[in-house]
Amino acid sequence: MPPLAYYKCVKCKRTHDSFMDAVKCENSHLAAVSVRELEYRSGAYPFRISLMFPDGKECGYITDDGIYMGDEVDYARDKDKKHG
Ligand SMILES: [Zn+2]
Repeated sequence: MPPLAYYKCVKCKRTHDSFMDAVKCENSHLAAVSVRELEYRSGAYPFRISLMFPDGKECGYITDDGIYMGDEVDYARDKDKKHG
């Protein structure tokens, strides 16, 4: 009985049957190149922001109930360190 092998995209967590498909998946996810703070409410951090991506598209994001400080934030911070 052969074991099943699959590859997981580290960014979206989806699994793929081939390594190359997983690499393509990881490369398909864009990182923001700039951020614009659109709206502040109480507190230091923005309530709404807009991110600009390398393909020229700008996407708006809004907090739901405050500032998110989960694992993904730590992942992004660690990734930035590697690239200086
Ligand atoms: Zn992916």
